[in-house]
Amino acid sequence: MKTYRIATIPGDGIGKEVIPAGQQVLEALATASGGGFGFEFENFGWGGDWYRAHGEMMPIDGLDALRDKDAILFGSAGDPDIPDHITLWGLRLKICQGFDQYANVRPTRILPGIDAPLKRCGPEDLNWVIVRENSEGEYAGVGGRVHQGHAIEAATDVSMMTRTGVERIMRYAFKLAQSRPRKLLTVITKSNAQRHAMVMWDEIALQISKEFPDVTWGKELVDAATARMVNKPDTLDTIVATNLHADILSDLAAALAGSLGIAPTGNIDPERRYPSMFEPIHGSAFDIMGKGLANPVGTFWSCVMLLEHLGEQAAAGRLMAAIERVTADPALHTGDLGGQARTADVTAAVCAQLRDEQ
Ligand code: ATP
Ligand code: MG
Repeated sequence: MKTYRIATIPGDGIGKEVIPAGQQVLEALATASGGGFGFEFENFGWGGDWYRAHGEMMPIDGLDALRDKDAILFGSAGDPDIPDHITLWGLRLKICQGFDQYANVRPTRILPGIDAPLKRCGPEDLNWVIVRENSEGEYAGVGGRVHQGHAIEAATDVSMMTRTGVERIMRYAFKLAQSRPRKLLTVITKSNAQRHAMVMWDEIALQISKEFPDVTWGKELVDAATARMVNKPDTLDTIVATNLHADILSDLAAALAGSLGIAPTGNIDPERRYPSMFEPIHGSAFDIMGKGLANPVGTFWSCVMLLEHLGEQAAAGRLMAAIERVTADPALHTGDLGGQARTADVTAAVCAQLRDEQ
């Protein structure tokens, strides 16, 4: 039997509720699939509490503890008492950068039973995967601040794009588009206003497109793309965008699909040199933490992506089907979807679906 070694990092806030729920569902899936594969979980208590005790969000040699895992399941990093740039850079981004998880992949669909805000749009009209460049661009951390507090104070955040970085994310996006039925890719740009890096981005898109003659592709300015997502969602399928642009577009996508609580993501090292990391896109949500109210569906869907990455396509399909049967029942909707269900109810229902289908 194949045993996958999974690191769980619940982090902060509702991460501590949804990650154990995800582990429970993966264990139920392994049991239900009759010994084909299993999981060995190791839990890491990093995040805000670790910071208060040790002055760091994770240990200096933390990456070494994760290096030999098959995948990482991550909750959220965020704490009302710790500045956001420390919680973000000190844990999640440290792992993304340390393991060169340069492709951030965000599927978006309207799941059965979900009341999404676009009334003219049915589930068949909104089926996207956003590919976010996850290693450089606007979030490269390049910049500085001078003359702090004086009238001549100035600061920069430089968007740094490398040819290698853009080529590899474009190639990943074209390949993903090619693997989907519509073979359609939209390259998000802003080269009308940003005349250096974004122009190189466009040029590289054209260059890489030659390797994928069967993929239909086009460019769209990021501002126009927001309107297109709302007005003509069915004209989009696979979308590739820079770190900042995709950050914004994917929150819009999650909202259009009904709730932040449902959306999953994977931080992928396509070359598989290091473990990839899967997480719900929502944050720590301190307003509802510790109450058992968090929607675990974003974590469950992230587990589907984790299974696909491990090559367990059949198990991934079974888990996704179980999730969709559960979202179809309004009695199993959490507060973010207008329902009364609790994290534990949704988790138990998905586990029961996995058991019953045998
Ligand atoms: P962070 O600073 O870590 O991003 P946040 O407090 O901004 O955390 P988010 O997770 O970004 O919280 O979500 C914004 C709001 O959406 C939350 O305050 C919460 O009310 C709601 N929300 C987010 N995720 C979920 C979920 N899984 N289940 C239910 N409600 C959620
Ligand atoms: Mg937030």
